[in-house]
Amino acid sequence: MATKLLLTFAICRLIVTVGLTLDPTELLRLGVDGQLSVDPTDLETASLDFGLLTRAEPLAVLHPSSAQDIAQLVKAAYGSNHMFTLSARGHGHSINGQAQTTNGVVIQMSGSKGGRGLASGRKPPQPRVWARERYVDVWGGELWIDVLMSTLEYGLAPKSWTDYLYLSVGGTLSNAGISGQAFNHGPQISNVYELDVVTGKGELLTCSEEQNSELFHAVLGGLGQFGIITRARISLEPAPQRVRWIRVLYSKFSDFTRDQEYLISLPAQPASQKFDYVEGFVIVDQGLINNWRSSFFSPRNPVKISSLGADGGVLYCLEITKNYHESTADATDQEVESLLKKLNFIPTSVFTTDLLYVDFLDRVHKAELKLRSKGLWEVPHPWLNLFVPKSKIADFDKGVFKGILGNKTSGPILIYPMNKNKWDHRSSVVTPDEDVFYLVALLRSALDNGEETQSLEYLNNQNRQILRFCDDAGINVKQYLPHYTTQEEWMHHFGNNWDRFYQMKMEFDPRHILATGQQIFTPTF
Ligand code: FAD
Repeated sequence: MATKLLLTFAICRLIVTVGLTLDPTELLRLGVDGQLSVDPTDLETASLDFGLLTRAEPLAVLHPSSAQDIAQLVKAAYGSNHMFTLSARGHGHSINGQAQTTNGVVIQMSGSKGGRGLASGRKPPQPRVWARERYVDVWGGELWIDVLMSTLEYGLAPKSWTDYLYLSVGGTLSNAGISGQAFNHGPQISNVYELDVVTGKGELLTCSEEQNSELFHAVLGGLGQFGIITRARISLEPAPQRVRWIRVLYSKFSDFTRDQEYLISLPAQPASQKFDYVEGFVIVDQGLINNWRSSFFSPRNPVKISSLGADGGVLYCLEITKNYHESTADATDQEVESLLKKLNFIPTSVFTTDLLYVDFLDRVHKAELKLRSKGLWEVPHPWLNLFVPKSKIADFDKGVFKGILGNKTSGPILIYPMNKNKWDHRSSVVTPDEDVFYLVALLRSALDNGEETQSLEYLNNQNRQILRFCDDAGINVKQYLPHYTTQEEWMHHFGNNWDRFYQMKMEFDPRHILATGQQIFTPTF
């Protein structure tokens, strides 16, 4: 009864605000079982994201308990003469309002299971592990940390990760989902067997390589444009027990990238003769090597850039891991030793630590807790993530790391290469047109502390300057987690893939009501 009342109120508010002339009883007959809420706390949460750069309040928030709840709501929006828009929101860790909408309903995919739950007591499905087949079926709003915890009970784990696990499955699959395993296993979107998707017409479809394959490929990396992922079937492997985690430093960029590229070129087998994870980061700040991802460099053993002969004041850190089982620890030592011998880092700069696999995967969460305790997590994040073609990465280093950035970064700068042949060209994600390309992630936080170089305005300007530099220098970067505000820019981003992207949109969300926060298409009210 309480749910029905809440629903009536929410729908009436929708009607009043959008100016709908629909009969509320007609909408009530939808029988949306999930909770449609206009609670100010829900609206406020859905108005914001991790970036804290934009704010857009929806008319209501749906807490779905099943794919059917979502299908009913989408059908209503699609079939109505006076539509409202719908944005799936996972964990809201976008930067530029990609999961927001002002003129409609946010479908809160993550978080309905824990905390207060739904008034009806119904909840989205729990992960279901198929141990023999080595895959897991998960709800689209499931967080990766919970996927990991469920699969570990069977001694299994997904193969491809993001650095941070408090992101939803639907959210990362709408982009790509990358980390240091991507060179080997491909991004997360290359490790999915099957999806259930509610399209922009309100149809609930199962799709895979074999079934509704156009929809399957379009949705992966599709920025939420073609449907809402309600279930994903994710490939698993036996979970390692422990991880040897190593960091080594370079003063020369060419040595650093040569070694990174060598490591990602090693054949998949034998697995003993390659690392399991290859990332890296750039250190341009003067003084101690210290940032939110490098608690690893022990403060008892501070390293000064000046003592390492950094090239142009910049150092590069290669970060690699080897997974292992306790029973094979000795062999792991030898394998690591022999791989390190082939690399050209500063000999005195080897930092090694050893930890449980789950602690390695969940490493960024520890940094999050530290930053939260200092009030440095909930600040604006003008992040810039770029895919840079291998042929131009040295130009990027000269122009950006040793040029535009000066000696200030305001956050970690990740850099690691990936093999394009691990990315399925049929997916919607856009990558540079070269066999190897780098992720360069400028993960900056803006602070309101009176220091000009840490202000939001300064960092936004610097981002624009970097993009302009790439344009002028003929570096054909592609934005990862892209953000554009005009369709012309989006067409440029997609290049030759635009026509197909557009066609898929017309087929699966012809009224352009889904994920309007991406600002690619305008709803046709
Ligand atoms: P949201 O912000 O909620 O949504 C993102 C987009 O996806 C929106 O357009 C939304 O409408 C759509 N969407 C959400 N759920 C669904 C669904 N079920 N079906 C269809 N569309 C949906 N990315 C990496 O690849 N690697 C990393 O290592 C990495 N680390 C990160 C660390 C931090 C601290 C943060 C803040 C982000 C990081 N990201 C990383 C980026 C992250 O993958 C994306 O921002 C992702 O979209 C966040 O997931 P979310 O659940 O918060 O998505």
